[in-house]
Amino acid sequence: MSDTGPLPAKAKAVLFCTCSGSCPSMEKVDFWSLAERVRLELGEGIEYMALHPRLCEEDGERLMARVLRPDLTVVTPACAEKRQEKLLRDGFARAGVPMDREHWIPISMAQEDTDAVFAKIRAAVDRPDPVAG
Ligand code: SF4
Repeated sequence: MSDTGPLPAKAKAVLFCTCSGSCPSMEKVDFWSLAERVRLELGEGIEYMALHPRLCEEDGERLMARVLRPDLTVVTPACAEKRQEKLLRDGFARAGVPMDREHWIPISMAQEDTDAVFAKIRAAVDRPDPVAG
């Protein structure tokens, strides 16, 4: 990700990867209640929310090619940020969207619980500049 000064606010979308719901590092995350909270508390302020079991597989990348857009910043609650950087690269490339701070805010759900992940998503959605602060 690049690091060059403030950027204009963009519309946000939230694209979850649940790691098939079976990753031990995410066992404290209740994906259904998390998705419902995002819908109820943040839904008005986001372009869309979607949930996929494996964004780093072929069908996940196909979805990313269809739903990522240059005019959006996508928030991706998934595995650790560094892993996402590698594993989601092809999906961003297929969408033709740069994997930079203007278009992407990764959120790690590893070792977190539902409340902590929700707080991170809220902060990302509310943040006018994707990397400020
Ligand atoms: S992108 Fe990360 S969270 Fe999603 S399936 Fe792959 S390893 Fe799991």
